[in-house]
Amino acid sequence: MQHIETDYLVIGSGAVGLAFADTLIDETDAHITMVDRHGKPGGHWNDAYPFVALHQPSAFYGVNSMPLGNNRKDTIGVNKGLYELASGPEVSAYFERVMNQKLLPSGRVSYHPMCDYVGDGRFVSILSGVQTQVNVRKKTVDATYFGTQVPATHTPKFKVGDGAWLITPNALPQLWQGKRERPRHFMIIGAGKTAMDVGIWLLNSGAQPDAISWVMPRDSWLVNRLHTQPGPEFFNTTIGGQADQMGAFANASSIDDLFKRLEDCEAMLRIYPEHKPGMFHYATMSKGEVEVLRTIRNVIRLGHVQSIEADQLVLDRGTVPMSANTLCIDCTASAVEKRPIQPIFQGDKIVPQLVRVPLPTFSAAMIAYVEAHYDDDATKNQICGTVPFPDSLESYPASTAANMMNQFKWSQDKPLRQWIRESRLDGFGKLIAEVDRADEEKMGILAKYKANAMLAMTNIAKLMATQKS
Ligand SMILES: Cc1cc2nc3c(=O)[nH]c(=O)nc-3n(C[C@H](O)[C@H](O)[C@H](O)COP(=O)(O)OP(=O)(O)OC[C@H]3O[C@@H](n4cnc5c(N)ncnc54)[C@H](O)[C@@H]3O)c2cc1C
Repeated sequence: MQHIETDYLVIGSGAVGLAFADTLIDETDAHITMVDRHGKPGGHWNDAYPFVALHQPSAFYGVNSMPLGNNRKDTIGVNKGLYELASGPEVSAYFERVMNQKLLPSGRVSYHPMCDYVGDGRFVSILSGVQTQVNVRKKTVDATYFGTQVPATHTPKFKVGDGAWLITPNALPQLWQGKRERPRHFMIIGAGKTAMDVGIWLLNSGAQPDAISWVMPRDSWLVNRLHTQPGPEFFNTTIGGQADQMGAFANASSIDDLFKRLEDCEAMLRIYPEHKPGMFHYATMSKGEVEVLRTIRNVIRLGHVQSIEADQLVLDRGTVPMSANTLCIDCTASAVEKRPIQPIFQGDKIVPQLVRVPLPTFSAAMIAYVEAHYDDDATKNQICGTVPFPDSLESYPASTAANMMNQFKWSQDKPLRQWIRESRLDGFGKLIAEVDRADEEKMGILAKYKANAMLAMTNIAKLMATQKS
């Protein structure tokens, strides 16, 4: 058994562990030890399908100290006119740079890839079996809370019978290598962002819309990416869009009415306007992507898949025959596991969670800043209120209220406010800070945002109470 010492032991070198370590290194003189099962930093991005990309602009993803991407706008494709979205390989390469050009050269980070953390400060090398005991002088940071799963690393919950043809999205671009007959029909299984990416990839790669079927247990509301753009030329849609969203929260009489209002102001989109969505996971899309997906008309709304057999799908509420050579694509991995929230600061342990939904890397960096600059756990937890990730439509107001309460607390704390304003991970704060006070149109939008936000807080409480009663 080897013995080493460190101030902070960070379990997980995914986006969250790296964003935490990056800010802690900048804000303290602490030593950090990072442990991860993967052979490279970046967590699940290393296992993702080759055509994955961020769904939000690169401009505010990653770690605080190192920009991701070139702040360019796409000039072609379904994201045309909007700020670039890093591809999966770009995100992986970026996180490797964070480790090799920032963290390790600091001389205060030691990194242990291909190691399983087994508890009580101990990790085991997957390749040699050597065990290491870490004497943690300050805290252990559990950067594995989100339990992110991707198709290549999860086990589907449905049965797969003999003769069924099931692959993960990772295998799609390799289809040309296959020895068997080419697929004649495609069955996308799953309703989340991965399934949407697969639909767009198939269509853009030559599959005909009527050769695609889509198993969709629940339709989803989607964030309109136009309303998430970081450049000042998008002020009216980004900040104006926020003002409209607050207006929707301020005036909604029910959850259905809320989402209807959010759709009316184009804050939210849905693929099939004739179907009422039942979930919202902050999946973000452009109108162009939605229009492409809408060409898939064969959507199967019979609940979840229970089993895939050679010639049929068995679902919760019925069976669907499948023609020969139907290729099923498993898109059922959950990007965010449903886990109960817990305090972030727990004595000698820190469990990074969302303090602003849906931004895990902003949240992790902010938690590191608070760890560095505030004294006791009660104060730190008061500043870092955990924000639950919504699943059902009914849970969206509670997430928004928690976001707003945190934002209000942070605005009362000058140094923290300053750090957030300077953070590249804070998507919209800079847009607001840079407004010329003589610009009447923009000042009008800001005034509308403030007024709507005040009314929204009161009405959100009513909407939440309606859910409880
Ligand atoms: C396809 C996809 C697209 C996404 N796009 C966006 C986006 O555009 N914007 C956004 O904000 N979020 C996005 N997300 C959410 C995304 O999950 C987070 O941004 C972030 O990557 C999660 O990072 P993480 O560190 O929590 O998890 P992970 O990447 O899973 O990292 C956790 C790490 O912990 C390690 N680990 C776990 N247990 C142990 C153990 N016992 N011992 C050793 N190591 C261990 C794992 O090996 C892993 O490397 C996306 C998610 C997916 C799946």
